[in-house]
Order: sequence, then structure tokens, then C-alpha cells
Amino acid sequence: MSSKLNKQGLLIDGRIRQKQFVVIEHGNLDAVHAIVVHQTDGGSAQNAFDSYKQGGNGAHFLIDKDGTIFQTASLRKRCYHVGRLIRSKCLAINRHTCNSEGMAKILAMSWTKQINALDAHERAKDYPMRYPINSDSVGVELVGKHIDDKTYETVTIAQNASLQWLVGELFSLFNLTSSDVYRHPEVSYKNPGEARTARWK
Ligand SMILES: [Zn+2]
Repeated sequence: MSSKLNKQGLLIDGRIRQKQFVVIEHGNLDAVHAIVVHQTDGGSAQNAFDSYKQGGNGAHFLIDKDGTIFQTASLRKRCYHVGRLIRSKCLAINRHTCNSEGMAKILAMSWTKQINALDAHERAKDYPMRYPINSDSVGVELVGKHIDDKTYETVTIAQNASLQWLVGELFSLFNLTSSDVYRHPEVSYKNPGEARTARWK
């Protein structure tokens, strides 16, 4: 590992350009258990920066189409990148580990009630039994627009090369493995094409 995390939570390395937006930081990030990979649904890094200036949602890193990596928030601070409701990990990948009685009740609810109840049910678990949430994950955004409700622009070769390097640095820093990296639509209810062509191994 070549980069160094300073006291302010900035990863100091020649490959990372610092462009911190304190308005997208929301309280302390005390533990990092996972990385969530996103696409911005914007055409340029500047689009994302313009939105970050308004505060609210954002992520820790942004990788432009040419592979330039920007750190946009401190790794010691929480960003809102996962969304309000998380999906059920046991339902998605390990159905037999779901609590069948409680889960059966939830699955009998109408959709809106169900996704809210699932979120509460999942948040009561510790990672890795549930998907990552804002308070235990780092967000990495790749510049790229959605094309339709199932598809996003293809992640560029330069973006994937930078993502792979950055994820490797974060693995060393936080003791993670590739099983701790998720595409945003796995974790919450999003366009299923977001980050589908992202590669980190
Ligand atoms: Zn996303």
C-alpha cells in the first residue's frame, strides 16, 4: 500500500486529487466494513461537484471517465450514498438463513410496507449478516449516466483500472476483501444497471 491516511481522513497519494466537500459529510464514520460502488447518473465530474456543493447526498471518492480519482469526503466522516432503505441480504443470497417466521410476516405485506419492514429487520443485524449502510461503508462514485431503467453507460477501462487500485488501497487500510465490495443496486432499490460494468478484481 502506497497511500497514507492523514488525521483528517484524507488519503494522501499522487494518484488521488483532493476535492473535499464538507457539506456532504454527516457525522463520524467510526467503522468501515464495506465499499459500495455507484455511478453518478451525470455526464461529468463537474455535474457531481455542482450537486455536492448543495450538500445532502454524496460519496467519499469520485472517479472521472479518464480515470482521475478525486477524494470528495473524509474517510472519517459518513456520507449519504446507500439510500434510506436497504435490501435483505439473506433473501438475496442465503435464503435459508432468513428468520422464517418473522420474514414470512414481512413478505406477506404490501410492497411499500414490506421494504420498510425489511429495512428495519436488516438493520438489527451486524455486518456481514446484512448489507452495508451509510454508517459502516465507503462510497465510490464513477461518472456515468443512466441510459434506460435497466442500463447505465459502460464503465471505462481507465475508470476500472483506477477503481481496482483504489479498492486495493481501501482493502489494506480497513482490512477488507473483495466480498466486502457491493454494487449499489445489490444493497438498495436502484436501477439494476448502476455500476454493473464496474470491475475491481
Ligand atoms: Zn448509487
